[in-house]
Amino acid sequence: MKSGILNHSADELKAILKEAGIPTFRASQIWEWIYRFGKTSFHDMTNIGKLLQGRLDEMFYIYRPQVINTAKSSDGTIKFLLRLSDTSTIECVYIPDVKRKTICVSSQVGCAMGCKFCSTGRLGFVRNLSAEEIISQFLIVKDYTNMWGCDDRLSNIVFMGMGEPLLNHQNVLRAIYNVMLDTEAGLSRRKITVSTCGISPIIRKISKELPCRLAVSLHAPNDEIRSSIMPINNTYNIASILDACKEYYSHHKFLKITFEYLLINGINDSKSCAIELRDLLKPLNAKVNLLRFNEWSGCEFKTSTGMKIQTFANVLKECDVEVSIRTRRGADIMAACGQLSSGNINSHAI
Ligand code: SF4
Repeated sequence: MKSGILNHSADELKAILKEAGIPTFRASQIWEWIYRFGKTSFHDMTNIGKLLQGRLDEMFYIYRPQVINTAKSSDGTIKFLLRLSDTSTIECVYIPDVKRKTICVSSQVGCAMGCKFCSTGRLGFVRNLSAEEIISQFLIVKDYTNMWGCDDRLSNIVFMGMGEPLLNHQNVLRAIYNVMLDTEAGLSRRKITVSTCGISPIIRKISKELPCRLAVSLHAPNDEIRSSIMPINNTYNIASILDACKEYYSHHKFLKITFEYLLINGINDSKSCAIELRDLLKPLNAKVNLLRFNEWSGCEFKTSTGMKIQTFANVLKECDVEVSIRTRRGADIMAACGQLSSGNINSHAI
C-alpha cells in the first residue's frame, strides 16, 4: 500500500529508501522536488530515472486536498475551502501584505474547545489533521499563487486556523519540522507561530522541542472573565498558563511570547481590564496583540469601538508592555480571526 510521502520526516524517508535498496541521496532530490518545486508526480522529477520514478510511484503518493472553493477579500486575503480524503472540510487563509505573505493553517477538523467568540468552536471536534493534511495547506497556497521555484515565497505560517494545535501536537510538530527542513523554500523558526488557547500541560511537555514562536490566546485579564468566554479556563487557569509560558521561555530566551487579546465590547475591553492585564504581564518578556472581534451570524458579541481599543493599548504601553493593534484582514469573506467554520465561504474570512 502506498504511503503519503508528506507524512514522513526527511530521516524516515531516507530509512524507507534504504530499506528498499534505493540510494539515500535520492531523498534530498525528492524532498527538493516536492517542497521547492511543488511537484505532485514522481514522473516530473527529471533528475530521477524512469525506472526509479515508477518504483517511487508504487511506494508513495504526494497528497493534495481538493480545493472546493476560494473567496478573495477586497484586501487581497484569500480563503480556501478544502475537502479532505474522507470528505471532511477545512479552511486555510492566505494573507498577503507589503512586507509578508502569511498563511493561517488549520490543525483539526472542528474544535473541542468551544470558545464562545469563535465560529469553529460551534462545530465541535471531528478529528485531528494528519501531518500531510497540515503541510498540504501550505503547498496548496503555493500552487494557487504560483510561488514555486521563484523568489516569491510564503514568509510566515501561523497555526491560528481551525482547531487547537497543541491537542494535535505530534502532527503539528512534524509538519513544522518538514517545512523548516526545506532550507531553500523553508521558513525560519521566528516566522512560524503556534497559537494555543492555553493547554498548560502540553505547553510544558513540548516547550523544549517546539521550534517556533508560541502565542497564547488570553482574551481576558482574570479567570472570571476568561472562564465566561473560554470554557477551557475552568481546566487550565491563567496562573497555570503563565507558569507553563515561563517554562517555554526558559528554553527560547530569544523568542518573545505573544498574548493574543480579542477585544469584545462590554466583556473584556474596559480600562480596568487593561490595567489588570498590564499588571499580569509586566513581569514577563511578552508582547500583546490586540485584535478586533469579528462579528458573525449567531454570535451575541459585538466589536469594541476604535476609541476603546486605543485606550486599552495606551494603558499597556504606559508600562512598557509591547503592544500592537492588529489590522483586521479578510472580514468581508469571513476569513478573519474566529470566523472560520468550513462551509460559509460565500458569505464570509485573520
Ligand atoms: Fe478552538 Fe481556537 Fe476557536 Fe477556541 S478560538 S474554539 S481553540 S479554534
